Amino acid sequence: MQFAWKHCSSAAIRVALVCVLPGGALAAQGQESAALSPRNASYDIKVRLDPVEKTLTGTEIITWRNVQPVPASELQFHLYWNAWKNNQSTWLRETLLRPSRELKLLPDKYAYCDVKSLVLLSESQKVAGTFQGADLTAQMKFISPDDGNPDDSTVMSVALPTPVAPGETIRIGVIWESKIPRTISRTGFRGNFFFIAHWFPKLGVFQSDGTWNCHQFHTHTEFFSDYGVYDVQITAPTGWLVGATGISFGMTKNADGTSTHRFVQEDVHDFAWTTSPDYREARRRFEHPGLRAVEMRLLYQPEHEGQAERHFRATAAALRYYGTWFGGYPYGHITVIDPAYGSGAGGMEYPTLFTCGTRLWNPFGGGSPEGVTVHEAGHQFWFGIVANNEFEHAWLDEGFNTFSESRASKTEYGPAAYVRRFFRGFVPVMVSEIRADMLVDLGLNGYRNAARSDTQDKTSFLYYPDTAFNVTYAKTGLWLETLERTLGWETLQKTMSTHFARWKFKHPKPEDFFAIANEVSGRDLTAFFDEVHRKAAVFDYAIDTAVSGEVEILGYVQRDGKYVLLREADVAPSPNERRMPLYETRVVVRRLQDGVLPVEVLLKFQNGDELRDTWDGKDTWKLYRTVKSAKLDYAAVDPEHKLALDINYTNNTRRLERASRLPATKWASKWMIWLQDLLQTLLFLA
Ligand SMILES: [Zn+2]
Repeated sequence: MQFAWKHCSSAAIRVALVCVLPGGALAAQGQESAALSPRNASYDIKVRLDPVEKTLTGTEIITWRNVQPVPASELQFHLYWNAWKNNQSTWLRETLLRPSRELKLLPDKYAYCDVKSLVLLSESQKVAGTFQGADLTAQMKFISPDDGNPDDSTVMSVALPTPVAPGETIRIGVIWESKIPRTISRTGFRGNFFFIAHWFPKLGVFQSDGTWNCHQFHTHTEFFSDYGVYDVQITAPTGWLVGATGISFGMTKNADGTSTHRFVQEDVHDFAWTTSPDYREARRRFEHPGLRAVEMRLLYQPEHEGQAERHFRATAAALRYYGTWFGGYPYGHITVIDPAYGSGAGGMEYPTLFTCGTRLWNPFGGGSPEGVTVHEAGHQFWFGIVANNEFEHAWLDEGFNTFSESRASKTEYGPAAYVRRFFRGFVPVMVSEIRADMLVDLGLNGYRNAARSDTQDKTSFLYYPDTAFNVTYAKTGLWLETLERTLGWETLQKTMSTHFARWKFKHPKPEDFFAIANEVSGRDLTAFFDEVHRKAAVFDYAIDTAVSGEVEILGYVQRDGKYVLLREADVAPSPNERRMPLYETRVVVRRLQDGVLPVEVLLKFQNGDELRDTWDGKDTWKLYRTVKSAKLDYAAVDPEHKLALDINYTNNTRRLERASRLPATKWASKWMIWLQDLLQTLLFLA
């Protein structure tokens, strides 16, 4: 795409274009495929990186079709990098709400996205490859729809001269310049490593009520966009490897020591890229019966060469398990980025490309970098293909992905071993005997501290920033785990794959998933979702009393019309007496918190007999009393640990001997260290 602007008058801008329209590039190469998505927001972008000044200069043509039944009288754009323009932005103000965060950034962390010109291009005025358009630059204004912060400039509104009718397509030309931050929120530079994400002026999502869904950039929530075709030309220094969303359409060397790399991708809702002279490259092919083959491209740091195969295996595990459980990966290629150490760009998902992150020494079996790689590869499914609004319902993709990642990782690798690091983290020591379930053990620890914070059905960007992570990720993962243990994997898998099939390349809302869960399970799960999603309830069931003793009547009884006092000596059997004793067992089960879900209660007797009951948990306690020829062995509430949200499982079982509760306490101190360490890993994921 050749693209230059010539100002002809103050009112109009003449644009000289030899423009490759969206989809044209693939058609030219015979690779155009049937549209998987609505493709109503497509971007042709040319961008030049200045690695010395740390700037981007870009031009883009956006082709936007109004897919709603109402006209659009304005456009709204995200300018995400303005979140770091200065310390008055909403993003930085929210970041300050987290403990020990300072409002001041290092000077090279400040950045901006400056739109120089915005033109509504009119194809009807096309003359020999030249487009004229209406200059709307003067119509641009910043708005703050979420918090009214007049100093935030992450959303830009542009009034249109005439409304865009339903079904009508318009094209918008934009010229902008950006200052690249030293990596913040996973985008920016570190030395000569560049990871460029959420970097171009990008439309919000126009809705059926005639409004735009275009939220300001918030510190703990992510993104939301419509699908389209991206055709992007990236100019960077010659010799630097470039990784990007999409398929490479070749590279041309320029006379000024730069090269222009072209990448095209259909049916995605975002585009990210990276470049560095230090990258090394490796490729493998993923194949699995019933799934589309996928070319895997890994750009890695030279010092991590020995871990290349581990990155491929983890990526393949995600493609395989998510693909067979939920639905196939449709793109045929994926790019895996091992970012520069300490860059802060790791652990983030973009369509057909993601960043993981490792370190020099990472013993296999310790869960890193496998966990983050499976997680971010898994986002191709929950985020990339099923694209919910991450500003409003972040749990729909992050929570689904936390659960799916946990399940895929356990299936591929088993539970991760405890790794303790020494010498500022450089030297790891792995204790293979201590293994943890990343979700049920470690996720629970995080959730426990956030359980009271926010109801999950609240708009995600309004969650309290310090606890948003656990309400979004861990809580959803735990209630999906609870659903699996309650309904069975077959039912949950069918629920999630139905959700995937119906909502791929669309924007599902929470109610859509709840309806599918009811439909597939054949149950009304409303009460379950009320408890786990619409309330900030805490779940803790416990066995409070478990006693069992020989039946004996002491005290007064009436015999022959008289009161007779029976003492222990009176009812004890004589040494020669043989009789079959009867035992009375009393078990009290309690609900210690406000979370109400049905639980099973098990009384196990010393002769092997079992007594099982399902308690609805609605009252605060329930007494189980029974008389049998055997003593109680132990009592348990939720004996199979189906309720993964139970914040304290150590009180769920009690043996007859009160002193010996089942879980051993001697592990407690080791567990705490271990949990803290692995929680750091969890926090690394996004
Ligand atoms: Zn994530």
